[in-house]
Amino acid sequence: MTKLTQEENWLEMRENVRRVVDSLDVCWRCQRVAECQKFILGNLVLVWLCAGCMEEMEQPQPPRLRRRSRVPAV
Ligand SMILES: [Zn+2]
Repeated sequence: MTKLTQEENWLEMRENVRRVVDSLDVCWRCQRVAECQKFILGNLVLVWLCAGCMEEMEQPQPPRLRRRSRVPAV
């Protein structure tokens, strides 16, 4: 293992990082920096969403997950 090889690896790594950073955006929903995809909100607004939020937006959460702060009188 020579020093030159390590430097080449480092340069390659830096190049990869730069490429990834170019594709990074701030997620519109969770405000985290991630690889985002375009998502059209209500067929009107174009936003960037990370993979996790994208999934959540595509499958609305079941109402069961809501907190039971108010129990309706039945
Ligand atoms: Zn997100």
